[in-house]
Amino acid sequence: MSRRLYDHLRLNVFPTPYCTGCGHGILLGAVVRAMDEATIDWDKTLFVSGIGCAAWIPSPHFKADTLHTTHGRPIAFATGAKLANPELNVVVASGDGDLVAIGGNHLIHAARRNLKITVICANNNLYGMTGGQMAPTTPLGARTQTSPWGAEEAPFDLCSLVRGAGGRFVARHTVFQIHQLIKTLSKALTADGFAFVEVLSPCPTHFGKLNKVPTLGDFREQMKSVYIDRRRWDKMTPEERCDKVPTGVWCTDNIPLRSAGGNKMGGAE
Ligand code: SF4
Repeated sequence: MSRRLYDHLRLNVFPTPYCTGCGHGILLGAVVRAMDEATIDWDKTLFVSGIGCAAWIPSPHFKADTLHTTHGRPIAFATGAKLANPELNVVVASGDGDLVAIGGNHLIHAARRNLKITVICANNNLYGMTGGQMAPTTPLGARTQTSPWGAEEAPFDLCSLVRGAGGRFVARHTVFQIHQLIKTLSKALTADGFAFVEVLSPCPTHFGKLNKVPTLGDFREQMKSVYIDRRRWDKMTPEERCDKVPTGVWCTDNIPLRSAGGNKMGGAE
């Protein structure tokens, strides 16, 4: 990271509280670089997070205005801040348990409203801070503290969920796709509408320990084989896709908003 970017960090709180091999530190650095690439004014930006390991990315590490809120509610707080001051850049950075499980309703309704905020969801496939319990993002068959024989329910596809709810800029990357991730985050920060970026971030302590991916290097190999660029995904057969997840950007800016009078799915025109 260039020396200049360190000015945006509260260096006195480092090192981060993250376990060895946690992906959240990589994401923290990516957000700082993306803010710089998108030339976002830090003094006109509010970072909002909830509860969980990822919620510690902006607060206390960023030298910026931060709201560290209650569990599952960062998007509700972000909505209030954006409505009170529409000029503010509002960036939510939190985890999957916070944003998608407990705060899932806030997420889909913010996307439906096309609220102009950026939501960065660090997805580690379980609840990390509370001890590694199963989440709605836990992959089928994955072991957690509360699914010791493997998760029996299919996880949410977060990007499909947010696109279906009306999100205008939707993307997914792993922390290992670092250049694409920084580029995508910088675009999301300047998107003209609700922007959602899912970031797959390894949790070696809980997920890794129970699923035979104990180190960051193991995660990198595993994620490289599962998370593939959507341009490659588009050319794959249904059989080839079965254990893969596409990454990339789904920019839906051109989809017209549905009017109150109905839509092409059968409502009155
Ligand atoms: Fe990261 Fe998991 Fe440790 Fe939390 S518990 S800091 S997500 S490795």
